[in-house]
Amino acid sequence: RKAVEDAAKDEPAVTTDGHQVAVVANIGGADDAREAMQHGAEGVGLLRSEFVFMERPTAPTEQEQADVYAECSRALKPGQPLVLRTLDVGGDKPLSYLPIPKEENPFLGLRGVRVGLEQPEVLRTQLRAIFAAAGAGAELHVMFPMIATIADWRAAKAIFDEEKAASGITTKVSCGIMMEVPSVAVMAQQFAAEEGCDFFSVGTNDLTSYTLAMDRGHPKLAAQVDPCNPAVLTLIGQAAAALHAQGKWLGVCGGVASDPQAVPILVGLGVDELSASIPAIPSVKAKVREYSLEQCKELAAQAVTCSTPEEVRSLVPMDQD
Ligand code: PEP
Ligand code: MG
Repeated sequence: RKAVEDAAKDEPAVTTDGHQVAVVANIGGADDAREAMQHGAEGVGLLRSEFVFMERPTAPTEQEQADVYAECSRALKPGQPLVLRTLDVGGDKPLSYLPIPKEENPFLGLRGVRVGLEQPEVLRTQLRAIFAAAGAGAELHVMFPMIATIADWRAAKAIFDEEKAASGITTKVSCGIMMEVPSVAVMAQQFAAEEGCDFFSVGTNDLTSYTLAMDRGHPKLAAQVDPCNPAVLTLIGQAAAALHAQGKWLGVCGGVASDPQAVPILVGLGVDELSASIPAIPSVKAKVREYSLEQCKELAAQAVTCSTPEEVRSLVPMDQD
């Protein structure tokens, strides 16, 4: 099986009835970007930019950041998408030089874009670095993590617009939202109607945690934090329908995009792009090719009527080797 998947890794992921799904990679930096290309990635669906900030005593300068983003961009084929997620710290991801006051409930506190809105210079510097890297090859997309309200989005987008105007670049840089708080999935229609909101990508790791109110790292609960829970799949399916009605696309960049059993269900729910871990890319593409879009839609329709994640998983046979 692996040999067959690897042989076709550079071919597009097209269902038996001709529906193409973009298969891209989750990366942490330029080395990953190059490796992703070797595994057949069609771009990057999630650059976890916090990796550029981690394991160093001070914050990277604007120039240092711009260099990394440009290097990632150059590693891709011209015109391929590079989705850069702005700094996502707080919660489970601390940074020594960017102190976040100790909180009773860090997962419900200052994390993701909330840190950037609280300390706008951090977000502004990062956006300037991203705009400086525009034109290096890939098509840039900026994505804000942990958006929960329309006010969050408008505040972040206003900063994006100001910095883009100040940068003087004329290249199009798309701007989108990470769907990892249930409110964004529930209100997908309103978010999609926001001016300049181009795309969404589901962070199923956090979306599952917040939907079930269970910490994905909790020793007793983590096993139940399954993104194939019908509640999570229902949110994704309803959001996809609302976004498509307004011509916006939806990716999935959480871990479930790398899960072969989930792939046909996600495609059937209307997901346009799967952003997987680098080694999983050939098998994700192969999985898409095994099904017709009609079969995927049928599986998705059944999945959202299931009562448990186990029932959902029993719909899709596991690979035997
Ligand atoms: C997610 O929450 O699914 C996600 C992709 O973001 P991270 O795992 O980096 O929190
Ligand atoms: Mg997340």
